[in-house]
Amino acid sequence: MSHPGATATDRHKVVIIGSGFGGLNAAKTLKRTDVDIKLIAKTTHHLFQPLLYQVATGIISEGEIAPPTRLILRKQENAQVLLGEVTHVDLTNQTVDSVLLGHTYRTPYDSLIIAAGAGQSYFGNDHFAEFAPGMKSIDDALELRGRILGAFEQAERSSDPERRKKLLTFVVVGAGPTGVEMAGQIQELADQTLKGSFRHIDPTEAHVILLDAAPAVLPPMGEKLGLKAKARLEKMGVEIQLNAMVTDVDRNGITVKDKDGSIRRIESACKVWSAGVQASPLGHDLAAQSETEVDRAGRVKVNPDLSIPGHPNVFVVGDMAFVPGVPGMAQGAIQGGKYVAKIIQNEVAARAHGNMPKPREPFKYFDKGSMATVSKYNAVAQVGKLEFGGFIAWLAWLGLHLIYLVGFRTKVATLLSWAVTFLGRDRGQLTITEQQAYARTRLEQLEEIAASAQETEKAAS
Ligand SMILES: Cc1cc2nc3c(=O)[nH]c(=O)nc-3n(C[C@H](O)[C@H](O)[C@H](O)COP(=O)(O)OP(=O)(O)OC[C@H]3O[C@@H](n4cnc5c(N)ncnc54)[C@H](O)[C@@H]3O)c2cc1C
Repeated sequence: MSHPGATATDRHKVVIIGSGFGGLNAAKTLKRTDVDIKLIAKTTHHLFQPLLYQVATGIISEGEIAPPTRLILRKQENAQVLLGEVTHVDLTNQTVDSVLLGHTYRTPYDSLIIAAGAGQSYFGNDHFAEFAPGMKSIDDALELRGRILGAFEQAERSSDPERRKKLLTFVVVGAGPTGVEMAGQIQELADQTLKGSFRHIDPTEAHVILLDAAPAVLPPMGEKLGLKAKARLEKMGVEIQLNAMVTDVDRNGITVKDKDGSIRRIESACKVWSAGVQASPLGHDLAAQSETEVDRAGRVKVNPDLSIPGHPNVFVVGDMAFVPGVPGMAQGAIQGGKYVAKIIQNEVAARAHGNMPKPREPFKYFDKGSMATVSKYNAVAQVGKLEFGGFIAWLAWLGLHLIYLVGFRTKVATLLSWAVTFLGRDRGQLTITEQQAYARTRLEQLEEIAASAQETEKAAS
């Protein structure tokens, strides 16, 4: 256990966990505040998750949506970026433990902002992950790219029609925005980009199925937009199966239970999971030490000022927090991160002048709406009471995503990649490697081997 090498000062110490939308915006808001910030995250980048599906389907590269956090904060002298996975927060001693390559570091804090986001939820069936990766990280997106393109490659070499059919059937589980975007892009990849590039198979015969246990597509965006998205996807050739609950996933396909109770099977080599989220386990760590409660999705039930019960200096923001009326979307995390940073800013300034800090105003979320792309030139958008779809919505989607991408270089590179794909039919990022496609399976095998070796050792001793 050791303390990181930064110089200790008497300044107020702010520790931020996570470099996503919540953590990064909190750090940037504190730029001119007289505090020492340590931002600890388990990746070296700030990930723009809304465009992960474009990495998975070869439109853009991972670098375009994941600039290094260290470079984003390079000029912010009061901030230090530290790589490590936070494993424990000690609320009594006000320290945070993080692990990097087996070494544990302990970092003290005066104020703590926890923005560790959420992971994929398989609703208690974690073994599905091996066969149906989710889409939460760059690793996930690259693995999916490898699996999608790999399925076409294997189909080209297969002389068995049943096997070819299985390889060319793609199932996307979860008809929320990510599922809709993935299904649309796999279909366009097959119909436009890959068309004519194989000799034995016809990629346009690929069968894309979008499946959900709910009765509607895009439920959070309302019936009208859901129907619009559904109609557009069906026109493109995506098959939509609603009221269909996945009961099992294996290497060769999925098992589905329909509304009438009947069980059926879909043979498919490539499955994508976009059907649920589970907040960071750090929420349970807080609950074990305080009055804090978590909901079923592991989200922390925070106070109106986003602090946790009994600890006014510990805040939880973004996907990890349960705040009534605030969706698990980028804006919730951005606004939450900025809000708690301003509380810290005001209270540090008040104390520096020997004043009592003002009572905290509760967090107020400003709903800027939501959007999802369905296909090239087609999106659906909801802004306040306004709901619209089609080309205008797609242009709005394009503009907004460019605004929110971090960094000038990133914006220019993304714009160029979009020009290649949207003005023509090519995609610039169709490279796949064996590591991308098989690393997860190999790592899991290694873990299994290590676990069974340990058991054998125990039994022998
Ligand atoms: C595929 C996809 C598409 C999406 N599309 C949209 C969209 O179109 N519009 C929209 O508004 N929202 C969208 N979202 C949701 C949006 O991305 C999230 O709401 C937002 O990222 C939440 O921000 P956050 O800061 O809470 O968490 P995140 O952005 O997830 O950041 C979490 C951070 O914590 C770090 N971390 C996690 N655990 C630890 C740990 N133990 N120790 C150290 N660091 C840790 C992670 O590395 C990461 O840096 C999408 C999400 C996904 C997955």
